[in-house]
Amino acid sequence: MANTPLYKPDLVIVISGPSGSGKSTVINALCEADETLIESVSATTRKPRRGEADGVDYHFLSKPEFEKYVQQNRFLEWAEYGGNFYGTLKSEIVAAREAEKDAILEIEVKGALQIQLQDLSPARSLFIFIIPSSFATLEERLRRRKTESETERNKRLAIAKSEILEIEHFNYWISNPENAPQRAVQQIQTIIAAERSRIDTQLIETINPLLGVDKSD
Ligand code: 5GP
Repeated sequence: MANTPLYKPDLVIVISGPSGSGKSTVINALCEADETLIESVSATTRKPRRGEADGVDYHFLSKPEFEKYVQQNRFLEWAEYGGNFYGTLKSEIVAAREAEKDAILEIEVKGALQIQLQDLSPARSLFIFIIPSSFATLEERLRRRKTESETERNKRLAIAKSEILEIEHFNYWISNPENAPQRAVQQIQTIIAAERSRIDTQLIETINPLLGVDKSD
């Protein structure tokens, strides 16, 4: 029994929180530290920023292409954010399962709420909200990364407030103070470890045959 892997990756880990809360940094560190985690590559109609690559940071689509994908029911969820569309392709979740990895999604709150309404079985979902220590920190982070104009930045800050109001729909919250992403990373690793240790039907279905128990009897 000791040599039989009892855990089969089946998690869809949704990490949400305002733009500038440091989600990407935390997720990159999580994936680097744990090869059984894989980040889903979202589709977006947003233009690539300097240094972003198609198929790596996002699948960059035109608006008509994105709309076609919506018609074809290819998204697990999708939402409009700051004038652009963003969505998680169902194929990303299938690919994670095939690679026997837990999928990690970095998405805004409306998309996270859509996933909560769905039955992902045999996968399970887990919802984590990252909050910055203050609005000043959020503003400063957005300002420093210089990826948005001032108008765009203000738009993102306004959206941040409405996003934080939805925190009650998440399972866990993580504070991500400036200059200490490692603490947030460790907290999420602990949450993931706990979820992987849940006693659920999948575990029982794995253990029973090892004990010679046939539940269909
Ligand atoms: P950015 O333009 O800064 O890359 O992303 C803007 C917002 O869209 C961020 O909050 C980011 O987490 C979110 N986002 C990225 N991918 C997805 C996705 O697939 N679905 C949804 N709903 N939001 C996403």
